[in-house]
Amino acid sequence: MADKNRILITGGAGFIGSHLSELLLAKGKKVTVIDDLSTGSKDNMVHLLENDNFTFVEGTILDEITMKKLIENADEIYHLAAAVGVKYVLDNPIKSIHINSRGTEIILELASIDKKKVLIASSSEVYGKNPSSVFPETADSILGATKISRWSYACAKALDEFLSFAYHQEKGMPVIVVRFFNTVGPRQSDRYGMVIPRFISQSLHNLPLTVYGDGQQTRSFTYVGDVVEGVVALMSHPDAIGNVFNIGNPHGITIESLAQKIKEKTNSNSEIVRIPYNQAYGEGFEDMRHRVPDITKIHSLVNFTPKVSLDEILERTIEFVEGKEKNV
Ligand code: UDP
Repeated sequence: MADKNRILITGGAGFIGSHLSELLLAKGKKVTVIDDLSTGSKDNMVHLLENDNFTFVEGTILDEITMKKLIENADEIYHLAAAVGVKYVLDNPIKSIHINSRGTEIILELASIDKKKVLIASSSEVYGKNPSSVFPETADSILGATKISRWSYACAKALDEFLSFAYHQEKGMPVIVVRFFNTVGPRQSDRYGMVIPRFISQSLHNLPLTVYGDGQQTRSFTYVGDVVEGVVALMSHPDAIGNVFNIGNPHGITIESLAQKIKEKTNSNSEIVRIPYNQAYGEGFEDMRHRVPDITKIHSLVNFTPKVSLDEILERTIEFVEGKEKNV
């Protein structure tokens, strides 16, 4: 059996994790997924469950006995399990903080026993409300007050990063940290607040497209297939160890223009409405105005460039949602 063949993916039933499983299986790896199905779903894995090289374990990363066994039997670990989605995190603050901080600590603790290589999924949220719009990895994390629940996610992810670097420094652990910027594509659920699946679902049902704030905030969206390729390339590059990388698309779009694009592509009669942030997320919510990654670092190391354009991403995702709705 080839080296580094047994892969453990925490959160592998989620949107990104299921695409990552698919790619690694296609590369001939043996993939084990652990997922508590809180935001992940078996639907994301139906096409994988019959593959002899794929194993699904339903459970939580907080279960140290199970995690110890799974990590012992893995050569490499992608740690994607987390409470995700602004709305989900606001609705489930205790669970989110616990999973996103203690969960990662457990993975690092157990992986450090045999110095297993771990890739930790972090987030562009760690830049917080830093007023820049383009973020190199060295940019400051500027988080808001602790009474504003949104920042608990960024804070937990920042702690995960500190802990990863600490394990690397003190115990020689091979750890890689990746900051994901708005990853999108088929299988992303519209239930946890993410803007593209929400707008697509609203458009297809001719419901109003809910643009929060003035709609002039920008985001850049990256196709999940591009993202998982970048992540796998980092895992196999020795110089990625001990480092942090942005992964995303350097081209931003305003949320208002995004709504317009989705409305056009779905031939929808929906109107585009503006919803104040406090109505959408509660009093005192803070959004970041602009957020685009500087991807020089990941490009230089593994030649990462996003290939799928926003138009193509939207078309593929709309087609997926339409197909799913037809089969219901
Ligand atoms: N957003 C919106 N309408 C929605 C959902 C989100 O206008 O129905 C906005 C949200 O306020 C943010 C952007 O779209 O400015 C991206 O939101 P998302 O939750 O997808 O990701 P974030 O970048 O906030 O993590």
